[in-house]
Order: sequence, then structure tokens, then C-alpha cells
Amino acid sequence: MSRTIHTNVIHAEAVSAYSHCPRKAFLLHCTEDRGTPNDYAYIIGNRASANRASHLAHLYRTNTSICSYNDRAFSSGIAVLTEANLEAANVAAYCDNLRIIGQSGDHPVAYEPTIVVGTYRLEKEQILSLSVVGYVLEQLQGRPPATGCLITLDGECHRVNLQPMYKTVSSILECIGGWCGDPPMQPPPVVLNKHCPYCSFKNVCSQQAEEADDLSLLDRMTPKAIRRYHSKGIFTVKQLSFLFKPRWRRRRRAAQPPHFDLEIQALAIRTGKIYIQTVPEIQRSDVELFLDIEGVPDQQFSYLIGLLVRDCEAVTHCAFWADTMKEEESIWRMFIEKAEEYPDAPIYHYGSYEVRAIESLAKRFGTDVTCIRERLVNLNSQVYGAVYFPVRSDSLNVFGKFLGASWTAPDASGLQSLVWRYRWEMASEAEYKQKLISYNAEDCQALRLLTEKLATLRTDADAELNVDYVDQPKQNATSLGTELHVALDHVIRYASLNYPKSGIFFRPKTDAAKKKGPGALKGHQAYQRTVPVGRRTMIRVAPKRNCPKHKGQRLQAPGKDAEKVSPSTTAERNRPS
Ligand code: SF4
Repeated sequence: MSRTIHTNVIHAEAVSAYSHCPRKAFLLHCTEDRGTPNDYAYIIGNRASANRASHLAHLYRTNTSICSYNDRAFSSGIAVLTEANLEAANVAAYCDNLRIIGQSGDHPVAYEPTIVVGTYRLEKEQILSLSVVGYVLEQLQGRPPATGCLITLDGECHRVNLQPMYKTVSSILECIGGWCGDPPMQPPPVVLNKHCPYCSFKNVCSQQAEEADDLSLLDRMTPKAIRRYHSKGIFTVKQLSFLFKPRWRRRRRAAQPPHFDLEIQALAIRTGKIYIQTVPEIQRSDVELFLDIEGVPDQQFSYLIGLLVRDCEAVTHCAFWADTMKEEESIWRMFIEKAEEYPDAPIYHYGSYEVRAIESLAKRFGTDVTCIRERLVNLNSQVYGAVYFPVRSDSLNVFGKFLGASWTAPDASGLQSLVWRYRWEMASEAEYKQKLISYNAEDCQALRLLTEKLATLRTDADAELNVDYVDQPKQNATSLGTELHVALDHVIRYASLNYPKSGIFFRPKTDAAKKKGPGALKGHQAYQRTVPVGRRTMIRVAPKRNCPKHKGQRLQAPGKDAEKVSPSTTAERNRPS
């Protein structure tokens, strides 16, 4: 399917790339660079080719009115047209066959498109490619086909409703069409995303993002968060790290889900420290099991169940391997048997894949897994939003490398394991099987290291210098500094205690208006009780002539009576004036 690149003609490949990343669509549409072929994409392409060959052979066997696509055959009403390279209105798309379904408006025939794919399950990208074919057919036959077909690897035909997709196709085409102007536009900026591991431009984009210390280097960064930080003038991970300010812990509601804070993650990377938001709850046992399952999600096939058993100091790795899907049940039963040898041991795993695989296998093979389910401990839930390691991703691979784990194959990853499995299936080379078993054992070892680290953080976080708390950072200071910190802590604590309301309050105006008479308001330090003014009485007391203590002794007369003004008594006040 080689093709010449016309910058004005938009290919379906660019449209489906746009759904993952506008930058990839730009590079495919506006440049001749095709990047470095990705192993996984190459394998899916190979599978699609093999599937296509057998599908076409079947079509030619079962149809009499069939030929390769060409303009004449298209308008003459041949029932099946194969390998159709369609082009109209500056859009080009390929489909494996067009099957006649009747008449379309003025056009004598209407066709429905079919694409053969290299997977067992349908993907959004494949539906989008089929919709682009439908869009081009609309230009050629006057009306878009309402449905299209995708043939998966198991030979099944999936009929898909294309009507809701045409709006998306039109808006993507409009956007890509806008790039063809003169002078040529700059490519959209690098925003690393979930599609990057599958993309042929991965190396170039990763390098650019590294050089720019781009925010998208953080795995959990979303395009929405990037836009929010850009609007605040934050463009790098280092800048982001300065946004975090430790705060006193607020009282949390009981069932609040854990929240991942990108600013703490950036801070952890800048300082090289581990930050604890919630102390992990890992309890060590004498016997522990570490579980890692390798599978092909596209086929829901678990082909390798790895179990690392730590019994006190002895560590052994058990690998239950299935050559084919028929052997899946036997490796499942072997795993159950092994796990039941240690009925009290917790089973550590990382992420939700193992839980889903266990539930699916138990359902398919009718196994009661209650005791296994109760012992599963997902380490991801102990780390997510609770412990921030100074790394950009929260994958087991990245944590493991940080904690000292190593992998024999430098490119080992979940995606690469699919490539190895495919190659083993193709050639049955022992090298790939060995790679997969080593990768699984090394993953289990990384799980063990992570468990040990989390258990250590639970008990020894205070003593470790490279560990800090998010809400109450450790105060590493001189003795004088420590004294000051303690004093200030007291001030803060008592200030909080004596200030039950969290705001500043003003006395309502009405209080001041109601106040009568002189003096400050009650409660103010200038307040003092004033004696009510009423009718006053002058009391005169004549001086004593004899001393009350010394009988018979005369006192010297002062010459005048003693006088005192007293407030009026109730009787006096009631007396008419
Ligand atoms: S590597 Fe990632 S950012 Fe770069 S073009 Fe591909 S998907 Fe887009």
C-alpha cells in the first residue's frame, strides 16, 4: 500500500492519528518524516496483512461478481470491489472491500466499506478510519454509508454505525486542512500522552520534552491541567514544583477518594525526596507472595502467571507458562494450588490487571477464589495520592528502578512483552520465552522491593532524611532554630484554640445605636458603671463631743458638721416634689 505524499490530500492515517495526538497528525500530513517504526505497530500491521490475505481469498472463493477496485468497476455495479484506494474532495482512504448494498440517490449503486484489522477487539482508531472511507464514499456516491464492517483477527465481521462519526471526521479534516497554508505552520507543541509508547515519533518527542522539562513528562498530567498551568505562566516541571505550599492538614471527610497532587510530585522530583501524604498500611508477614500476570489483553489470554514466594529468608519464583490458550486452565489451577499452600500469606500485586485476570479466570473455569480475593493487596492503592516518589511515573517499572530493581532486557515493559510473546508465537524461539519469564521474575522482585520500602516508610519515616511529610514538613534546624519552631508552634496552637471562629467579626451597628449615656461599650476596657443621676440629699452629721473609746474624754470640736451628698433613696424618689 505504498503511496506518494501530496501535502494537500489528507489521508485517513492522518485523521486517525489526530484522534491520538494533533502533533502526530501534523508530522504525518505535512512532512515526509515517518519516524522510527514501532515494534508493536509493525506486528499489528503484519497480523492485519495476514488477516487481509485470508479474507480476500475467501471473498474470491465465495463471490462471482468481484474484481479489484477501479473507477469503471465502481460505476458499473460489480457486487464486490476489493483493495479500494478511494480519493475525493482532497481526502484519500483505503478499504479492503466495497460491497454493494443498493442504490444511492442519482448514483446507480451504493457500497458499504469493509476494513480488515490486526486485532481481536475493535479500537476507536479503526472505527475512525472506516468513517473516513465512508466520508470519501459520500463524495463519490452522493450519500454516506450508514454502516461499515470491520473484520477482526478471529474472522468475525463487526458492523459499525458510522452516522455519529461523520461530524468528528469533518471537524478533524477541517483542522488538518488549515495546516496546508503558506507559509507552512509550526507543528503543534509536544504533549506526551498515552499513545506515545506506540508512536513512531516517540524518540524525537521524548527528547524535546526532556530538553524543555515539559509538564507532560509527568505521567498523570492531563491536557486540561497543562492548559490551566500554562494560563498561570507555569511551563516546566521545575516551575510547577514551586507551586506547592505545605498546609496544615484539614479534617477530611471519611470516604473521600485519594487525590493525586501533581505539584507534590514535581516537588519530590526537584528535592529528590519521598513525600508522604498518608502513611502506608503495609504489615509484614513471615511468608509473603508477590503476583504478576502476563497476558494478551486483546485476546483476554493470560499466558504466564508468576508467583514469587518469600518464606522467611528463602525466595523462590514460580512461573506457570501456557503455550496456547488451551493450557490456560492448567496454569490457572497450578497457581491456585501453589497459593493455597500458604493460606495466611498476603498476595501483593500492582494495579488492577491481576484482579481482573483472576476474576475472569475464576469465572471461566468455575473456581471459588474467595480466599485468594481476600488476601490480595494492591500496592498501587497504597502509593496513589499517598506516597510520592521522586519519579515522573507511577508504573511498577519506574518505582522498581528507583528502589534498585533491574531488568535484564533494557527495553523491558508491558508493551514490549506483547512483542516478545508475538515473536515467540511466530517462531517458537526459546529466547523470547526466557525473556518473558525473566521479565516476570524481575517484576515480582520489584514488587517485593516496593513492599519492603512501604513497610519501612510506615515505621521509620521520621528517621529517614530523604523522606518528608506533605502536611507537616520535618523541621531540620539548629538547636536555636528548633526552640524558635517550638515557640512558634505554641503561638499557632493557642491562637487557634482561642479563636474558634475562622473569621474577623464586627459588632453590629445596632449595639452602638442602642447605647445610652456616657462611657464606652460594655466589655470595652474604658467601660465603668456610672451612678444614675437622681434627686440628691445632703446629709449632715454633727461632730461627736466625747470619745467613743475613752470614756469621759472630751473631743476637740471641729467647728462644723460633716457633710455627704447621697443618691436619693426610693422613698425620697417617690416623695412628691
Ligand atoms: S510521540 Fe507522542 S507527542 Fe510525539 S507525535 Fe507521537 S503521540 Fe504525539
